[in-house]
Amino acid sequence: MSRPGEIDEERLAAALKAGDRRALAQAITLVESTRPDHRRAAERMLDAVLPGPVDTIRLGISGVPGVGKSTFIEAFGRMLIERGHRIAVLAIDPSSKRGGGSILGDKTRMAELGRSDAAFIRPSPTRGALGGVARRTREAILLCEAAGFDVAIVETVGVGQSETAVADLVDMFVLLLQPGGGDELQGMKKGIVELADLIVVNKADGDLADAAARTVADYRNALRLLRCASPDWRTEIIPVSALTGSGVDAVWDAIDRRRAAVAASGALEHRRREQARQALWAELGEALVEALRGDASIRRLVPEVERRVMAGRASPSAAARDLLERFLGRPA
Ligand code: GDP
Repeated sequence: MSRPGEIDEERLAAALKAGDRRALAQAITLVESTRPDHRRAAERMLDAVLPGPVDTIRLGISGVPGVGKSTFIEAFGRMLIERGHRIAVLAIDPSSKRGGGSILGDKTRMAELGRSDAAFIRPSPTRGALGGVARRTREAILLCEAAGFDVAIVETVGVGQSETAVADLVDMFVLLLQPGGGDELQGMKKGIVELADLIVVNKADGDLADAAARTVADYRNALRLLRCASPDWRTEIIPVSALTGSGVDAVWDAIDRRRAAVAASGALEHRRREQARQALWAELGEALVEALRGDASIRRLVPEVERRVMAGRASPSAAARDLLERFLGRPA
């Protein structure tokens, strides 16, 4: 055993690769920590689990509160487990407020799925910074895959803030909608629809079945006018009932078909490689800013520079360049 307070990241990596769920939970806590020693341990641990399995599927699932995300993921997850998959659900909650958009407030969500050994459910606290969410969620996905979960779902509340960041982490982005009463297309304004590789119209059952069919038709029409999320794929729109389970298979079939196509063409590998490259530059940007903020001589200058910028006496651009040049000790 390691001493208290000390992290044996190699042990943790080995336990995680053996499928130990507690180790996976600990590992995700470690990557979420902002303590510098934890960050280093997390980096060593991640290096110890890489390269991970490639035969995995990373899905983003988004939709406004009440659309049926947890009901859908529960039904979808159960179906995947029956088909022999192991599924990890990482829920991102951008709202610090309770109620309304909160994913984390409701502890009973996905209760049945949560009891299965083949499922791992984990809320991701965001602490405000969405960039940070993307960084740590990306690492959490890698850890889940290393622990043998071949389907990773990143769930977000579809309020337009975190969707772009999540779309950049996953292979496919799924938007959940519900039968719309009026002519306003939900999610259209915020551009979320353009991110979607697949649109699922939930609650296509009982009294809502007809409205769901209309919503499907409306979106099929509207999508003709939009550019698709991927050039090689027409966004599909599938009606489902998460409550009865009807259509849930069709969603998986569409995902599976799309996955097979992008894996065969090399587009999947290309996308993941590009995502990794972007993550590298995002990390570099963050690390540079942190180094700059941590520099004693820069710290002394910051209050005055901020005041000048806030008062409109200096442009943010010139002030930033000035600080950077002082940090680097040369013209930037
Ligand atoms: P979330 O906030 O997006 O996670 O939504 P929930 O999964 O908590 O569902 C919100 C409400 O919609 C609940 O009362 C569900 O029972 C209901 N609901 C979810 N899926 C369906 C469905 O397929 N059909 C019907 N009729 N209701 C559903």
